[in-house]
Amino acid sequence: MAEEWVEQMQNQVNTLEKLEKFINVSASEREAIETLDTRWGISPYFASLMDKDDPNCPIRMQMIPSMKEQVNQFGMTDYLVWKENRATEEVRPDCIARQYHDRIAFTVIETCAVYCRHCFRKELVIDQELQLRFDLDEGLTWITEHTEIRDVLVTGGDPLLLSDEKLEYLIGKLREIPHVEMIRIGSRLPIVLPQRITEGLKKAIGGFHRVPVWLNTQCNHPKEITEKTAKAVYELMSCGINVGNQAVLMKGINDDVETFKELHLKLLRIRIRPYYVFYCEAAPGIDHFRTSVEKGAELIRDALRGHTTGLAQPMYVLATNIGKIPLMPDYYIVDKNEKEYTLRNHKGETTKIPNIPG
Ligand code: SF4
Repeated sequence: MAEEWVEQMQNQVNTLEKLEKFINVSASEREAIETLDTRWGISPYFASLMDKDDPNCPIRMQMIPSMKEQVNQFGMTDYLVWKENRATEEVRPDCIARQYHDRIAFTVIETCAVYCRHCFRKELVIDQELQLRFDLDEGLTWITEHTEIRDVLVTGGDPLLLSDEKLEYLIGKLREIPHVEMIRIGSRLPIVLPQRITEGLKKAIGGFHRVPVWLNTQCNHPKEITEKTAKAVYELMSCGINVGNQAVLMKGINDDVETFKELHLKLLRIRIRPYYVFYCEAAPGIDHFRTSVEKGAELIRDALRGHTTGLAQPMYVLATNIGKIPLMPDYYIVDKNEKEYTLRNHKGETTKIPNIPG
């Protein structure tokens, strides 16, 4: 009998008929599904978390195609080529993207358990305009030959959709490369398909090794967190895998103080460390999700800083072709002279500390 996660994938909700078993589809959702030529799909588990009647449900908005995707006033064409520096003279296999000297992203698959409408890798994963060759051995050989690479981000699509055998091979081979010090995996599965965290997966990627595995998932709204998520995260941690979150800031989904705060507190309650909040990138067809750039810093100031533990404080960043640019709130240093600094906290109160000559 197939494992539960495999059955979930076989029964992915990707037709109107299947979707109607979970929600009362609105007229505009119906129009988008019937009109747009777009790849979409939701794991039955994640679909079951959608509000049956509310089209503004944050999970529905992230998962169900929208006619707004046709509007593209601000999105950049060939966004991923720009973002991942693919138009470069350096000879690299398709599966290797590079923005830093010692870190690379290794793309191993282009399928996902859900197809997020805000995905910045849309051209590869959803529109499939960017066709890449995913050859594990080609990528492994390139990394072996580049001794400056310390840190490998395994990404997709969703890399945890690879079979246990393939993952064991990939992670095992990476761990054998002497200059690789750490492996990071980017996967939404702990949130959208927690059933994937099986004993076989734990054996394939976990355990005590010289090279640790860090997993960063993506959770954007407290509604996405269930008992099953909590259990999946615990299972990952129990085999030595640290779990962090990379949320995407999105209009109407998590751009209000209450939701933003609840999301970060709930993540900590299930042992996920908030790592990044990303400004919604300039990928094509996702204008409707984008807030002002300042919004994220305001939310960190008004919902998290001083309101809860430092463990719940993610770094707010904008990912670009030249790396991540921090966009944190900048209200701290109000004044500085030879004698002292004047500092302000999140409530607007000020204090002074001596300026000690360096
Ligand atoms: S799971 Fe990740 S790669 Fe897949 S569609 Fe969502 S954001 Fe994009």
